[in-house]
Amino acid sequence: MLHTKTLIFGGGLTGLSTAYHLDALAKTRPELADWLLIERDDRLGGLTRTEIIRGYHFDHTGHWLHLRHPEMKAFVHDVMGDDMMMVARKSRIWSHGALTHFPFQQNLHGLPLDVVHECLMGAVEAAIAEAKAPIDATNFKDFCLQRFGKGITDRFMVPYNTKLWGCEPEEITADWCSRFLPKPNLSQIAAGALGIIDDQAGYNAHFTYPRKGGIEAFASRIAGHLPPQKVRLLTVPVSIDFGRKQCTLSSGEIVQYEHLVSSIPLPELLKLAVELPEDVRAAQAALRCTSLRYLNYGIKRPQVLDDIQWLYVPENKYPFYRIGSFSNAVASLAPPGCSSLYVEVANNSHPSDAEVKASVRQFLREHDWLGDDAEVEVEEVRHIKYGYVIFDAHYFAAKERLLPFLLTQNVHSLGRYGAWVYASMEDALMDGYQFAKGLLPRPG
Ligand SMILES: Cc1cc2nc3c(=O)[nH]c(=O)nc-3n(C[C@H](O)[C@H](O)[C@H](O)COP(=O)(O)OP(=O)(O)OC[C@H]3O[C@@H](n4cnc5c(N)ncnc54)[C@H](O)[C@@H]3O)c2cc1C
Repeated sequence: MLHTKTLIFGGGLTGLSTAYHLDALAKTRPELADWLLIERDDRLGGLTRTEIIRGYHFDHTGHWLHLRHPEMKAFVHDVMGDDMMMVARKSRIWSHGALTHFPFQQNLHGLPLDVVHECLMGAVEAAIAEAKAPIDATNFKDFCLQRFGKGITDRFMVPYNTKLWGCEPEEITADWCSRFLPKPNLSQIAAGALGIIDDQAGYNAHFTYPRKGGIEAFASRIAGHLPPQKVRLLTVPVSIDFGRKQCTLSSGEIVQYEHLVSSIPLPELLKLAVELPEDVRAAQAALRCTSLRYLNYGIKRPQVLDDIQWLYVPENKYPFYRIGSFSNAVASLAPPGCSSLYVEVANNSHPSDAEVKASVRQFLREHDWLGDDAEVEVEEVRHIKYGYVIFDAHYFAAKERLLPFLLTQNVHSLGRYGAWVYASMEDALMDGYQFAKGLLPRPG
């Protein structure tokens, strides 16, 4: 039997930040240093790991760090010093045969004139309606229709989000988008239609990123502060008795804990419980999430996608919804004169991997971003089982039952998949920091 004050599940940024900050605060409160971190894989970092193949660096699709909170800016600076660089976003949208600036709704200029006209008139009608009555939408499509109008909804919001979420926008609520979706007013939409570009729109106009080594360089730097004897790799919890605060590990050891911080996916955590109330089990069954399929490309040619870092591809004729270039954002992510790319596809079984690959190559050739096939040095498919949490009609009721229940058991389920949210790397860091500082809700 092992004893620990804080048992941490998962060594992604949430788990790493929790452990780091507990140790940092232990200088004045030594009892906080008593933690044990359990990680399934053979190295720490979770989604913020970087795979290096033939000199090309591949994050698990684009992982750009956007920092809003002064505490997290200070934390990143403490661990990385000057080894982070600031990058200005260069993203575009490819639709209706045109490349436009991000976000679509604020940069209609360059689209065929009939499309611009349709989008603009829809936006005017929506603004007039919104001036008379506030938006009252029960699903994401309704929200877009009421906020942006029919043209922008039909031309971008519906096709793009259908591909991203792998379900109809009528099935999801608009609650995920409060922070992440730029919502220009009519004046801004009109300015963008005339070609007045505002490259600062949205939460991600700038981001920080390690100068070398991919995003994993950041996770590794945090991990480097953690005493190895308090980290168990290649280990998983196999069952938890919430009442007794005991967890059995795959190593056969039993851990007695006071607090459990879990950043593994919420459904996976609940499956481990030896006993749960019926209504908690029912709420667990309501949790939905997308899976992702994505492809990595290493191409022996500089600046594939020109200087664009990522490109949104809403139209149905392409199976992928986003294609990005790591090396256009940070040159160290590909060998000199080469490009490292990622392509994101919702994980339905159709089309096949072979068809997606053919479509990607065709797309790159059409834009003169790819010559002959010999230039392709890496082409591989990967999967992310838990991608985007789906905010459907049952989402809030389920979470309102699950997270408070877990708190009563001294379990803090944190991070993107622990708290079951649409969240960023900074949010993960913040969760760990706030737990360590005692700033999160405690059992009532
Ligand atoms: C496709 C995609 C792109 C993204 N792009 C960005 C971006 O550009 N910018 C940004 O800020 N955020 C981005 N994010 C979000 C960001 O990745 C997450 O918010 C953040 O990395 C979550 O960290 P975490 O520690 O909570 O979860 P994870 O990174 O998922 O870590 C969980 C850890 O738990 C481990 N684990 C799982 N199950 C078990 C188990 N049973 N036992 C033990 N260990 C287990 C896993 O191996 C993993 O190490 C993106 C997310 C996705 C999916």
